[in-house]
Amino acid sequence: MRFDILTLFPEMFAGPLTESIIKRALQAGVIDIALHDIRDFATDKHRTADDAPYGGGAGMVMKAEPLAAAIRSVVSSRLSVAGDAPEPALEDGPRTTDHGRRTLVVMMSPAGERFTQRVAEELVGYNRLVLICGRYEGVDERVREALIDREISIGDYVLTGGELAAMVVLDAVARLVPGVIDAESHAEESHGDGLLEYPHYTRPAVWEERAVPPVLLSGHHGEVAAWRRRERLRRTLARRPDLLVAADLSPADREYLRSLGWVPETRDIPAPKSATE
Ligand code: SAH
Repeated sequence: MRFDILTLFPEMFAGPLTESIIKRALQAGVIDIALHDIRDFATDKHRTADDAPYGGGAGMVMKAEPLAAAIRSVVSSRLSVAGDAPEPALEDGPRTTDHGRRTLVVMMSPAGERFTQRVAEELVGYNRLVLICGRYEGVDERVREALIDREISIGDYVLTGGELAAMVVLDAVARLVPGVIDAESHAEESHGDGLLEYPHYTRPAVWEERAVPPVLLSGHHGEVAAWRRRERLRRTLARRPDLLVAADLSPADREYLRSLGWVPETRDIPAPKSATE
């Protein structure tokens, strides 16, 4: 999968992309990341990428022309790689989505839809993600209208720029690309099926008088799995009861949750049939 990042500060990406899992995925060619400096698409001699807002007010606004030129250059390079000179990372078959599109242009924005694991799962369906990092007060609205497919916020707070947000999206999507981490690691992960993950332990069996739950040392796979499932349910109820509304719950899960005092939300219970109609 290919990630193209459009930014005024490409150097910011050096650290996160040169360590651990993302580094290995890059080396293995499973993912491919290209950084594009939006300033390289400015045409004046000062390489101006921002200007004062029409209507007045604080701060600067990212200009339409350099950003639009950068987006178009990246998106059209997709067309050329589909032709005679294929780039390896884009050659691994059409991973088409509902729209049959292989490239998605995403703008990082605090006014965008909230980024969740579900959104990450949708984004990994594209062959190429173009992530646009805003700065200052944001970008000229007309670029958004003309060229942006989707706007994503990583949370309800305001960052100084979209770079950290793009790294968050890249990281969460990249680890879903087949081959980046063990397929097994995804199976029972937090948020995968709407529940949080169970707690983990490693050696020693007793640390500062705290023992690992005995069931994990029993070697009994069935009991370990049942314990982990209950821990997931217990943790989700304690920390994020809101997630239970949409979680994938079996009748046994529901019974266990009720034994812990869970009261399902009313909309979770089938409405009683009216006796008069
Ligand atoms: N004036 C804007 C904030 C601009 S912050 C407003 O009030 O909405 C500058 C840039 O940082 C934005 O263009 C966006 O790219 C990025 N950014 C800030 N907070 C973000 C968030 N929560 N999620 C994603 N991107 C964010």
